[in-house]
Amino acid sequence: MQVYKAPLNDMRFVLLDLLDAGQLVKLPGFEEATPDTINSILEEGAKLCENVLHPLNRSGDEHGCTYENGVVRTPPGFKDAYKAFVEGGWLAMSANPKHGGQGLPELINFVFEEMVCSSNLAFGNYPLLSKGATALIEVHATTELKSRYVPRLIEGRWSGTMCLTEPQCGTDLGLIRTRAVPTDSGTYRVTGTKIFITAGEHDLSENIIHLVLAKLPDAPSGTRGISLFLVPKFTPRADGSLGPRNGVMCGGIEKKMGIHASATCVLNFDDAEGWLIGEPHQGLKCMFTMMNAARLGVGLQGLGIGEAAYQSAVAYAKDRRQGRSLKGAAEPAATADPIIVHPDVRRMLLTQRALNEGARALGYLVALNLDIARKHPDAAKREEADDFVQLMTPVVKAFFTDCGSLAANLAVQIHGGHGYIREHGMEQYVRDSRIAQLYEGTNGIQALDLVGRKLGQHNGRLLRRFFHPVTAFVEEHKGDERMAEFIEPLAKGLDRLRNASLTIAGRGLADPEEAGAAATDYLKLFALVAVGYMWARMAKIALAENGGGDDGFHATKLKTARFYMARLMPETSSLFAQLMAGKRTLMEMGADEF
Ligand SMILES: Cc1cc2nc3c(=O)[nH]c(=O)nc-3n(C[C@H](O)[C@H](O)[C@H](O)COP(=O)(O)OP(=O)(O)OC[C@H]3O[C@@H](n4cnc5c(N)ncnc54)[C@H](O)[C@@H]3O)c2cc1C
Repeated sequence: MQVYKAPLNDMRFVLLDLLDAGQLVKLPGFEEATPDTINSILEEGAKLCENVLHPLNRSGDEHGCTYENGVVRTPPGFKDAYKAFVEGGWLAMSANPKHGGQGLPELINFVFEEMVCSSNLAFGNYPLLSKGATALIEVHATTELKSRYVPRLIEGRWSGTMCLTEPQCGTDLGLIRTRAVPTDSGTYRVTGTKIFITAGEHDLSENIIHLVLAKLPDAPSGTRGISLFLVPKFTPRADGSLGPRNGVMCGGIEKKMGIHASATCVLNFDDAEGWLIGEPHQGLKCMFTMMNAARLGVGLQGLGIGEAAYQSAVAYAKDRRQGRSLKGAAEPAATADPIIVHPDVRRMLLTQRALNEGARALGYLVALNLDIARKHPDAAKREEADDFVQLMTPVVKAFFTDCGSLAANLAVQIHGGHGYIREHGMEQYVRDSRIAQLYEGTNGIQALDLVGRKLGQHNGRLLRRFFHPVTAFVEEHKGDERMAEFIEPLAKGLDRLRNASLTIAGRGLADPEEAGAAATDYLKLFALVAVGYMWARMAKIALAENGGGDDGFHATKLKTARFYMARLMPETSSLFAQLMAGKRTLMEMGADEF
């Protein structure tokens, strides 16, 4: 059975003990974000997720969205849940107070989003898209468009979409065929077909604001010729009320593997009125504001579902009785022992747990840096934090979603054959988690982003934002005996990562296929070291707090840290060997030999 309780203790540990989120109150605009406020927000958020969103997860999957003559209906209960969500101000939490937001740190929003993704990933897509659309409009649109659209998006009365994909164009956006023609009134007429558009049509909000990539008549070819347009479903009047229906219609929804309650739409734009955002032909740059935010959000989907899968698997492993402990019966009075006694079941549970808790620490660190990048009064600190976020965005997106999918599969495995049966809900986690590895740029594309763009950016400056603190941490704790079991594997992983970075940078310059051949292994190596760094930092705190005893939370944290270092970090060795093998074994076979 799917079970979920927000892991508030672990969230608090990461926020307050590890990252000292209390420091946020010193940043201008965040004066209210005291630890007490953070705590009470998270407690309220947990109630909404556990009591409103989670109960709709199975039924939403079973029922799915429905389509009839251009109208899309979300599953029963979703409208009320969305109402509770927006009335609770959850969409407004980190939004700009100028437009009606609460202006709280993104970090708090991140923690809440993790809970949403654990409870009901499909539901979470609706606010995720709205948040991204709001951010894009705030950064790139004119003052008039901002004041017309942003407040209503923040209120949740209107919702947002991102419209990139077309039948012939997925990863390669240079192939876009949707056209935008200027009119005398200064707006544009947008015509074309977009597919796979999440939340493209639904019954949760009064209006839907589409952010659409299209080409102007004089556009240069390829990605340099893409412009961005805001196309509302209903064109608002000057007083903000809904005007006439615009020329955009939903042509159908996809039948798909998972996230059945998230509407995936075909949208037909037929001379729809649109407003240009940003400069002509510069649309992709603007869209990246939304895509980067969404990539982190999709990373959280991986973490969220990983946590839910773990909790469900633990509950089952304590309940299901099969066989006896290898050391002799653990519960002789019972007919059999619970399967949690078996080392192999523990291997699976601990893999889920160590990846979840490590990813949580890394993900929240990235969110903290998002806040610093936006609010710190010192420009150098802002730049440093922004570099870190940019570097980590593909890592969070790809690694967290790979881990989420792995955790969901492990949950099925722990349930045995029952995991394969629909009733238990584990197969839903497998189906729902799978999409996160694909959308917002496939994980292969994230790896190329890391290797091809982030690695060499500003002469390696982004990379140094990571290497310097990790190296300093390793140096500082080298002689500390109690930390040795954490520092030694971290130091080895870091060495491999440093060597791999130099090798790829060198080989990639001479032959880009070498960089492409190493990319996915490199991203995973990077992620394992980054998460290892977070585990070493958490172990340090746990050691200090635990004082060598067994105080429950901290003692358990140390055990999980040990598992990560001893059983997951060693994969950095095989990844290093794989990527050092170079491109030859991938590229020497001709296409006709496959
Ligand atoms: C449920 C769902 C919701 C979605 N929501 C949205 C949405 O809201 N808005 C939107 O615009 N889109 C959306 N998408 C589309 C999604 O972002 C794309 O499917 C995704 O980016 C991949 O594009 P594609 O499917 O065309 O695959 P392709 O681009 O055809 O890629 C196929 C394979 O080739 C690989 N590949 C392609 N190019 C390269 C390259 N240069 N180097 C290495 N490998 C490469 C890919 O990694 C992949 O493995 C959604 C898709 C789904 C299924």
